[in-house]
Amino acid sequence: MASTTYAERLARARQELVARRLDALLIGPSADLSYLTGYTAPLLERLTMLVVPASGAARLVVPALEAPLALGQLDGTPVEVAAWKETEDPVALVRATLDSSAALDVTAAAGGRLAVGDRLWSTFLLRLQAAMPTASFTVASTVTRMLRMVKDAEELDALSRAAAAIDQVVDQLTELRWIGRSEQDLAKELDQAIRAAGHDETCFVIVGSGPNSASPHHEPGARVIQPRDVVVVDIGGRLDGYCSDTTRTLVIGEPPEGFLEVYEALRYAQFAGCQAVRPGVSAAAVDKACRDVIEQAGYGSYFIHRTGHGIGLEEHEDPYIVAGNDEPLTAGMTFSIEPGIYLPGRFGARIEDIVVCPDQELEPEPDGVEASAGAERLNRTSRKLRVVKA
Ligand code: ZN
Ligand code: ZN
Ligand code: ZN
Repeated sequence: MASTTYAERLARARQELVARRLDALLIGPSADLSYLTGYTAPLLERLTMLVVPASGAARLVVPALEAPLALGQLDGTPVEVAAWKETEDPVALVRATLDSSAALDVTAAAGGRLAVGDRLWSTFLLRLQAAMPTASFTVASTVTRMLRMVKDAEELDALSRAAAAIDQVVDQLTELRWIGRSEQDLAKELDQAIRAAGHDETCFVIVGSGPNSASPHHEPGARVIQPRDVVVVDIGGRLDGYCSDTTRTLVIGEPPEGFLEVYEALRYAQFAGCQAVRPGVSAAAVDKACRDVIEQAGYGSYFIHRTGHGIGLEEHEDPYIVAGNDEPLTAGMTFSIEPGIYLPGRFGARIEDIVVCPDQELEPEPDGVEASAGAERLNRTSRKLRVVKA
């Protein structure tokens, strides 16, 4: 990202602070910090904290030994780096930064309204609260979620490249040897394939086979894959800071009794979810579009999670595609559409694509449920059932 991008993001964060009558943003090592400064800080016991007052210069408080790392990554971001030595108190430095900013007096009776990073460890927050007993604290996501939810062109490009990389892995799935190998063994091979496809790191690999496919967040284990197994493969990595996340369901040879019916309902539900995406439609309406199809097919009680989650610097972030979230979608929001049907003890299936809310309604493509009408899909692999030759 260009340093002007970070200057703009910091300026927008200040606008949000003012609009919400907040005095300062306090951000520890997290995606928020990377987003606002370009610095991906180690999450360790020494305090690192970005202090952004509603008015006044932004300052990054860092342990002295990590100052070279921070300076190397900031690259023109308009923040002053304040390094603290091993025997100094970094919380006092944070407080001094707030005291010196024009708008704020943390020693006053009403000591300011501070927005603290959602991912800040309690060990740091408790020290801040003790040092500023009259200040009030709220979560920083009230400010940062508005910024981070809508992706700019550079972020969309990074997410597209991450999606293309994970799609390469998906396209190899049916060529792998499955029968006679454990889930763990397959997961190791997929981890390598995810990195070989261009990701900087693998974030997660779910391989759920047979009855394990009915556990949405199954941890790959010792179970050996057999003919007639259903296998749910949910994989993701990180590329240039941005995440990929996709799920496809495979069957090894002949599908088990009743599976094809479940899979076709699911495929249509996932399509209906994608098709419902457009600016102004609520996240809840997209969830409902998916869920209605599954309910009509008689599997409503087996779809046991929300339809999707936002994705960007984090695998799971706002907006969440779930009943009750009446937030309207806007162009540039990126999130998953990932309905699943899970029959305990038998099998489960899930189909997941990352999509972008377009700036206008897209024309439906002609080829039925393979179409990308509504949302723009970043994952482009086929959603037809993948059959591995037994
Ligand atoms: Zn999940
Ligand atoms: Zn996933
Ligand atoms: Zn997901």
